Amino acid sequence: MALVSARNVEKTYEVGEVEVHAIQGADFTIDPASFVSFVGPSGSGKSTLLNMIGCLDHPSAGTLSVAGTDVSGLDRKAAAQFRGQHIGFIFQDFNLIPVLTVAENVEYPLLLVQNWPVAKRRQRVSEMLEAVDITAQADKYPHQLSGGQKQRVAVARALATNARLILADEPTANLDHQTAYRIINLMKRMRDEFETTFIFSTHDPKIMEAAEVIFTLEDGRVAREGGSNA
Ligand code: ADP
Ligand code: MG
Repeated sequence: MALVSARNVEKTYEVGEVEVHAIQGADFTIDPASFVSFVGPSGSGKSTLLNMIGCLDHPSAGTLSVAGTDVSGLDRKAAAQFRGQHIGFIFQDFNLIPVLTVAENVEYPLLLVQNWPVAKRRQRVSEMLEAVDITAQADKYPHQLSGGQKQRVAVARALATNARLILADEPTANLDHQTAYRIINLMKRMRDEFETTFIFSTHDPKIMEAAEVIFTLEDGRVAREGGSNA
């Protein structure tokens, strides 16, 4: 069964008298444990689409299902609960909490969504830090890290809750090219190890080549392209 399935998904924003058709007739499916990129220029609808898959926003029309649940009609509370159970997020500007250490940042989502005993939580945090090779920085604060290190922490944090799906909206936009490749390859290794599905967006044609499945976005329309598996 597909992990994500979109049928005729539309998103229209009303800006005063004007309607912006941000996503138009999107039809696609994404398999479990796949490594997928949405690619398109600024304004093509990447964030709008990822936000809908991440249950941060609703489609205006159509059906969107994630992990077997029709998410198009979830209310705020149900959406928040669904996100906590199934989805991890990685952001362009890392979004680490500045007053928490690296280890505490990774622990944070576990405190929010899972009622684990402290020993199990600590164990999970150290596994995740090790997986992304950032154990040596565990007690540092975000401002003491490089951009690439911050994004590795963000990857560990997204994985900590055992999310089945990780959404990363332009995760490499604030990184130099070499670091960007490293982060994308790290995400791919994490997919191999944990069978987590990763969906990332980028406007960088070189970064997108690492994806196995590529969807292009142009003026809100989604089309499937090649990818390294094609
Ligand atoms: P991308 O992430 O590819 O840059 P977006 O999804 O942010 O594209 O935007 C797609 C289109 O929708 C753009 O025309 C943008 O201006 C518009 N848009 C995005 N968010 C909103 C909003 N909250 N209100 C109105 N228009 C929006
Ligand atoms: Mg965007």
